[in-house]
Amino acid sequence: MLILMEAAATLDQAQGVLAFLDAGGLKGRIQEAGEALSVVAPHASKVFKAERLEVLPGVRKVVPITSPFKFASADAAPHPSVVEVAGVAIGGGELVLVAGPCGVESEEQLYAVARYVAGAGLRLLRAGAFKPRTSPYAFQGMGSQGLRLLEGVRREFGLGIVTEATEVDVFDEVEEVADLVQIGARNMQNFALLRRAGRSRKPVLLKRGPAATLEEWLLAAEYVLGEGNPRVVLCERGIRTWSNHARNTLDISVVPAAKCLTHLPVMVDPSHAVGRRELVIPCALAAVAAGADGLLVETHCAPEKALSDGPQALLPTDFQRLVVQAEAVHRARQASPPAPGLAF
Ligand code: PEP
Ligand code: MN
Repeated sequence: MLILMEAAATLDQAQGVLAFLDAGGLKGRIQEAGEALSVVAPHASKVFKAERLEVLPGVRKVVPITSPFKFASADAAPHPSVVEVAGVAIGGGELVLVAGPCGVESEEQLYAVARYVAGAGLRLLRAGAFKPRTSPYAFQGMGSQGLRLLEGVRREFGLGIVTEATEVDVFDEVEEVADLVQIGARNMQNFALLRRAGRSRKPVLLKRGPAATLEEWLLAAEYVLGEGNPRVVLCERGIRTWSNHARNTLDISVVPAAKCLTHLPVMVDPSHAVGRRELVIPCALAAVAAGADGLLVETHCAPEKALSDGPQALLPTDFQRLVVQAEAVHRARQASPPAPGLAF
């Protein structure tokens, strides 16, 4: 159930609702959305009728959450969520661009990319220190040493860091450095990792599994949210189909479909979706047109020398063009925003 509090309700009154739920053996969570408080309580409708909660002090209205995703559901929050990452609001109406190399390869490489990414006005940099690779013989990332370089980049350029935790064992050290901890596509149903991410004090970028349905993806988010971390950003990165002109198939339709079902922000990674540099910009722009809250894009100063994913890395000049065009598409969408309460 979503228990909406009166505009003038106090935190004490919301805590009173939690205590009432607790007495019935239920867990709930207070959320602040805009000025009003609300309490989300999965499975409360199995124990209480709405009327019993509606008479509690400060409660305005009780709304059932009928979907299988109790925390991620659009019904579980009065407004779309805004996830703040290093001072950048994802889901707040601005288009958030995150760019950087696939992996941290050296100080020289990382700093060169960070310099032009920051120079283009971006505030968040992506780069994996731990890399999930299809082949065990491929470059696995610089690990802890790569994290040290990412810390240096934050100090030098003031960029927030998006980097991946590939397994539970490395989560502690990754979350120390990351401003947004990435859970990769292959790990979307690594439930131990999802639970660990749910206990993190950092926001989480949850990529869609290469063969996951929207429902499976949102249920994966539910593992993180259910552990108490409300800061989840979804990221579509292409799914496996029979097409072979691109690395994967970018599922543009999942962006508006997800926004109908969930309050979580939705980003798109066109780079892993297409796998070929020349397809990245058109697909990135399509994602923005479809309502993505942001893009996660790979770029490299010398893609021919990249240790991973060189063919899909945008050259610095392409990257500059993407920044300009993506902003233009975003402004075109904003010129005629949807009516309040509607995703599109
Ligand atoms: C990445 O973003 O570095 C990555 C490995 O992506 P994915 O998990 O989507 O393959
Ligand atoms: Mn990559």
